[in-house]
Amino acid sequence: MKKNLSNIKKSKYYLDKNECVAIPTETVYGLAANAYSNKATSKIFKLKKRPKNNPLIVHYPNLKILKKDCVLNKNFFKLYKKFCPGPITFVLKIKKNSKISKNVTNKKNTLAVRFPNHKITIQLLKKINYPLAAPSANISTKISSVSPEDVKDEFGKKLKFILNGGRSKIGIESTIINLTSKPEILRLGGMQIKELNKVLGLNLKYNKNLKKTSYPGQAKLHYSPDIPIRLNVKNSKRGEAFILIKKRKKIDKNFFYITKNKNLKEAGRNLYKTLRKIKKKKYSSIAVEKIPNKSLGLAINDRLKRASNK
Ligand code: AMP
Ligand code: MG
Repeated sequence: MKKNLSNIKKSKYYLDKNECVAIPTETVYGLAANAYSNKATSKIFKLKKRPKNNPLIVHYPNLKILKKDCVLNKNFFKLYKKFCPGPITFVLKIKKNSKISKNVTNKKNTLAVRFPNHKITIQLLKKINYPLAAPSANISTKISSVSPEDVKDEFGKKLKFILNGGRSKIGIESTIINLTSKPEILRLGGMQIKELNKVLGLNLKYNKNLKKTSYPGQAKLHYSPDIPIRLNVKNSKRGEAFILIKKRKKIDKNFFYITKNKNLKEAGRNLYKTLRKIKKKKYSSIAVEKIPNKSLGLAINDRLKRASNK
């Protein structure tokens, strides 16, 4: 590789060679590889220790390239126009002649696609002539990365390159909606369901009991700091890290504010960073103050519940 290449060119250099590169997005950092290449995408599963049957989300710069791979429908166009690029992933039918690697789809006839809202990653996607398969840049079931430092913590020297795009602005993964038949929310995330309902004229709700077992990404244990977590706690016990959303008069060194005034967007942005910080400080248990189950609080509570499963 030539010296003094820009970071985007360096990323392209490695991706063209079928290597993985971590990329910034507004939700969380992704572990990216050429979605058309079996060799490149198999490296994602290996690095992440991800079960082979958990399909990947593919990232596109625009509709033109997506049309080659997926069958688009009315609901998709409505949501695309309003929210893309943004924190929403669409599950669509894959075209028979699509070049997407079988590793990406787990040999199913659907594909999860997204248009990330991050300047640097959009520039990269426009420079390469393939879309990027990119699950979150963390070891499977562990805490997602929201900064280059987190990615380094997860993969160390095993990863060839991290494209630095600063801290992820949303800090929680995308909302996933299945549009292959009657619309259905598969994962809560950075895009609020009520916004989707307004555009679709529907009243979708997230039903955690839906049959999502065929997607291991919806597994019960996920986003885990490997420390027991107690939710909806009023007061922490001795030695527990205490995650808070509203400023208290008392000051305690085990207090970790993800927001001080119940700002749920701010709470979402700080959630994973705070879990990582608590883990590094070697706390053996975590308590979390009650977080309102509305707007982004829904996704935050979903992540905390999964992180707290044993
Ligand atoms: P992440 O590892 O955070 O990128 O998670 C990707 C999520 O997308 C996982 O929950 C996957 O199970 C889900 N996913 C990917 N492809 C599909 C698909 N075709 N249908 C349904 N869910 C999918
Ligand atoms: Mg993930």
